[in-house]
Amino acid sequence: MLNHPRTGQAFDSPVPPGAGWPGDPATPATPPAADAAAVTAMAAQAQSIAELDALISVCRACPRLVAWREQVAVTKRKSFADQPYWGRPVPGWGAPEPKIVIVGLAPAANGANRTGRMFTGDRSGDQLYAALHRAGLVNQPTSVDAADGLSTDDIRIIAPVRCAPPDNAPTTVERNTCAPWIDAEWRLISPHVRVMVALGGFAWQIALRIAADAVPKPKPKFGHGAVAELGPNLRLLGCYHPSQQNMFTGRLTPAMLDDVFGRAAELAGLSD
Ligand code: SF4
Repeated sequence: MLNHPRTGQAFDSPVPPGAGWPGDPATPATPPAADAAAVTAMAAQAQSIAELDALISVCRACPRLVAWREQVAVTKRKSFADQPYWGRPVPGWGAPEPKIVIVGLAPAANGANRTGRMFTGDRSGDQLYAALHRAGLVNQPTSVDAADGLSTDDIRIIAPVRCAPPDNAPTTVERNTCAPWIDAEWRLISPHVRVMVALGGFAWQIALRIAADAVPKPKPKFGHGAVAELGPNLRLLGCYHPSQQNMFTGRLTPAMLDDVFGRAAELAGLSD
């Protein structure tokens, strides 16, 4: 067992459900979905975000992804060798009744798969949360671990795949298996959402799919800064993914992130 870098509590890697990891939504009794049919059934029955988060966080429906996330949790990146790794699916993070929803892709092997929180503990997250803080949407500019005090009343970050995939590439079957989780999350939060922000073209397609009732024809095209009206009270904004490559090459700059999240806050009625 190794100690959590902030709380000092000792954990196995991967972290057993209900062991005391900060923000762990599950208990030892939370039932794990064993296959795609179970994901579909359990997601459809979830009645609250808290219940859904717990179910997602113990899911074992994709054998390849379960093996990978747990292997990474044991072998670890050298720079994190002294830390326990979450090594489980990563539930959505943020407010249960958000006005803004940010759609990402999948957890990073040594980021969210280590910390247990969306976009936490990697370079993409560093850029994302700094921009969210500049836009007044979270309470602090850094997101280091799940016990660092980060909070929000306004946003929620969700993803179409909840387990870190090898080479950041889930298969079509894995994407389809995981889809009921994000569909259920959208069902529970959508009455509150005014703005969706898609981080990249794939997330844009996911956002259009989950908000499908309201998608205009022809289908709106992704672009950085693109805005699609998905109904009288819902807009979708496009934003390049804050990946290391996009930020390093200058394809995406902090100023460009500020434009998108400032616009999102304005459209959601959250700016001063
Ligand atoms: S990717 Fe989704 S469906 Fe597959 S094991 Fe992870 S949480 Fe479950």
